[in-house]
Amino acid sequence: MSFDSLGLSDPILKAINKKGYTTPSPIQQKCIPVVLDGKDVLASAQTGTGKTAGFTLPILQLLAGEQQPHKRPIRALILTPTRELAAQILENVNEYSTFLKIKSTVIFGGVKQGPQVNTLRNGVDILVATPGRLLDLHNQGLLSLNKIEILVLDEADRMLDMGFLRDIKKVLALIPEKRQNLLFSATFSKDIKKLANSFLNNPVLVEATPENSTAEKVNQKIYHVDKPKKRAIIIKMIKDGNWQQVLVFTRTKHGANNLCKKMIGADITAAAIHGNKTQGARTKALKGFKDGSVRVLVATDIAARGLDIPLLPHVVNFELPNIPEDYVHRIGRTGRAGANGIAISLVSHDEAAYLRDIEKLLKKQLPTGVIEGFEQGSPPPPEEKKPQNHSPRKPRNNNGGGNWKNKRSNNNSKRRSNAN
Ligand code: AMP
Repeated sequence: MSFDSLGLSDPILKAINKKGYTTPSPIQQKCIPVVLDGKDVLASAQTGTGKTAGFTLPILQLLAGEQQPHKRPIRALILTPTRELAAQILENVNEYSTFLKIKSTVIFGGVKQGPQVNTLRNGVDILVATPGRLLDLHNQGLLSLNKIEILVLDEADRMLDMGFLRDIKKVLALIPEKRQNLLFSATFSKDIKKLANSFLNNPVLVEATPENSTAEKVNQKIYHVDKPKKRAIIIKMIKDGNWQQVLVFTRTKHGANNLCKKMIGADITAAAIHGNKTQGARTKALKGFKDGSVRVLVATDIAARGLDIPLLPHVVNFELPNIPEDYVHRIGRTGRAGANGIAISLVSHDEAAYLRDIEKLLKKQLPTGVIEGFEQGSPPPPEEKKPQNHSPRKPRNNNGGGNWKNKRSNNNSKRRSNAN
């Protein structure tokens, strides 16, 4: 299968060629013709599947077909949960529209609104936005949404996790009723289905390869270690292995900051990325990590969501996530586009239940290894075994393992509230 057979125009094929893509990913193969057909789409896909091009390429083609007045109205709105994801989508949109007369921009909170407003004043065809800043500028009368033809909700599950449901409903009320809708989500909880039913019209269901099989490509290893030794272990691994680009996950913002300090103290350049960091600090950290001046990026789950760092060789779970699906999201950042990735998890006694949940989701046991000099000591007394400092875990429905898609709980936002 090649891009030529999907019905895309020459300027778009030229941009794809320039990007170096030769074969459309499964989500692109399924999504592009359906969107070009003007249909609504309900897609199950996460970052790493090529979903951005899956919706961006056909949108560009649909919009490029029509002549526009000099002052362009916003015709496509792409809503995303995080600033990083919004910025990355715009980057992609710009690359794919190199040979088209399409203007696009991005707006998100945490930075001054002036420059964003100036760009909007000049007219854009495609607006990528996080919900808060979008509504803020709309309330100030600085943008109009009454010419929207296509709406994309990207990472809809995260938007709900992050409490954006009300904002999404407000946006839906501001845009024309007659439009094309595309909803992308990695998971399908009851709430996502309810939201999808509320605004999609006879959507075509599109599924990317299930995430769990993406995880197959990644070389995963578990090290059972003592919690107080985790920092020394990770520093040893990075130094001994001479790892130059490592994404490390912690469960909390505080944990991310502490680990980052420790790394810097051990002469490893590191930066932390989480919800308490300013947009400037996040952008700087990500840029440094991408250009190689920052060796270790320590991130919490939501902050890392949507980060697209091609060919990331190492992901380390300094702490396991308490939501098993997040493990799959985390390790999905490595081993992309056919590259080999290594995902290592440092698991202490108190995380045994999290590991069990993850293995149940993956339907397999993960290989374990031993780090010389850091073998795990004897387990602590039983009362210390329970995970601490988290919100209560959801009682699991005992359905014998199962699929990543239907297991996210409605309590996730509560469980996560501490973490990012
Ligand atoms: P996404 O899932 O949209 O975040 O894309 C993940 C990564 O895959 C990005 O770095 C894209 O540039 C890349 N990508 C998207 N489509 C293709 C393709 N057809 N061939 C190779 N790489 C791709």
